[in-house]
Amino acid sequence: MSKLAIFGGPKAVKSDPGDIFDWPIITKEDEEAVLDVIRRGAMSATEITLKFEEEFAKWQGSRYALAFNNGTAALHAAMYACGIGVGDEIISPSVTFWGSTAQVFSLGGTVTFAEVDPDTLCIDPNDIEHRIGERTKAIMVVHYLGHPADMDPIMEIAKRHNIKVIEDVSHAQGGLYKGRKLGTIGDVGAMSLMSGKSLAIGEGGMLVTDDIEAYERAIVMGHYERFKDTFETEYLRPFAGLPMGGYKYRMHQVSSAVGRVQLKYYDERCEEIRKAMNYFWDLLEGVPGIKTHRVPENSNSNMAGWYAARGLYREEELGGLSVTRFAEAVRAEGVLDCTPGCNAALHTHELFYSCDVYGHGKPTRIANAIRDVRELDNSLPISEKIGSMIYAIPWFKRYYPEIIEEYANAFRKVSENYKELLEGDPGNPPKLGGWHFFKHTED
Ligand SMILES: *Cc1c(COP(=O)(O)O)cnc(C)c1O
Repeated sequence: MSKLAIFGGPKAVKSDPGDIFDWPIITKEDEEAVLDVIRRGAMSATEITLKFEEEFAKWQGSRYALAFNNGTAALHAAMYACGIGVGDEIISPSVTFWGSTAQVFSLGGTVTFAEVDPDTLCIDPNDIEHRIGERTKAIMVVHYLGHPADMDPIMEIAKRHNIKVIEDVSHAQGGLYKGRKLGTIGDVGAMSLMSGKSLAIGEGGMLVTDDIEAYERAIVMGHYERFKDTFETEYLRPFAGLPMGGYKYRMHQVSSAVGRVQLKYYDERCEEIRKAMNYFWDLLEGVPGIKTHRVPENSNSNMAGWYAARGLYREEELGGLSVTRFAEAVRAEGVLDCTPGCNAALHTHELFYSCDVYGHGKPTRIANAIRDVRELDNSLPISEKIGSMIYAIPWFKRYYPEIIEEYANAFRKVSENYKELLEGDPGNPPKLGGWHFFKHTED
């Protein structure tokens, strides 16, 4: 194959990508839905949101869907819905966006972090059970970068210990695990629908559940106008009318309006995404150093909208070449987004170690806890080095085989010529990846 572009050779990617990366797909129908809301001055009303919830619940296969102003709020309410309060603990993977866990502090609770599986990038089911303590109330599962977490063993552990499971579906809306829709397997599902995600409606979030008590608890936290004294959950009734959390979590109706249109076409658009992404990985099957992050074929699971697509890096197959150098060479071939890393491990941030958020006179992480749940250094080795094991791949939204082939060729070419890159490899910086992770937020 020809000389690497980083050394002056011709680039592997030559064609204009056109609209292959454009997302979300916005048509006249979205525009008209938005115009209707703003022309009627209905931005803060709820009639469109209620319709969106009804359609969402049906699509999700859940009894209830409750819309939120963002995913962080939906996950906060999911924790409250599961009864998490002062002194309680949740178990979360350390490699995730902070919005999966940081809200637990404001409930007086805390988190213990578990390891992620190096192939799925989701919580490792074998690293959960020994973390369960007297006050553990829930496991937070994140279907990371579109990959479904291994729910069967997780549900089995939760049942045995009588604790709840919350699914953070922010990366995998509409995805399947063994034929079951993500978000409906645990007790409560909650997700972001913000513009960077695969189901992108603007700022927004959604909570889904089949459990009336969980649903009503989610309402009382931040949907005061929907908190009625007719609630089925008797102990909540006396407080109707005011938000028990002191939060206001209503979805903006411009988001609900866009959401209704986006949802209509979402499954069909995701199917095209998966066709394109699977084609990309089929082209690269067996190429040394790079490994696919996807579910096995015919598993009846899928990668949903393949949010923030990434590949697994195995430097030992490329003579120890750093992912930093590897990605630099791939970018030189014309794959502009090939950056190393993903979310940095949360347990390495001082918010989860020393920070006294509420003036308890001690770190918030242990302020109300019955034990010191903080991790020691090197206790989650995969999470701590995850940045060196991951790189971004193109997130194709359209199935244009000729273009996809050019991008795949860029990765193949760098892998085949890796020896030329070993000399002058600066190695990885001390920290790869960031707290925000996606391009719409600068670290
Ligand atoms: C985006 C995201 C959230 C938070 O959602 P927002 O809508 O941005 O508040 C939570 N969890 C994960 C895994 C996310 O990626």
